[in-house]
Amino acid sequence: MKKDVICGMKVREDTEFVSEFQGKEFYFCSSKCKEEFDKNPLKHSR
Ligand SMILES: [Zn+2]
Repeated sequence: MKKDVICGMKVREDTEFVSEFQGKEFYFCSSKCKEEFDKNPLKHSR
């Protein structure tokens, strides 16, 4: 399981909501969380 860095939920690695930033993959529970991350990946990836 991966952690959704936006809402803190645990997410499966086979989710369709994945973003890559600085060579790392980030997994999200929903398109909303993914969009939030994509708006400011630097802030959320720390
Ligand atoms: Zn989420």
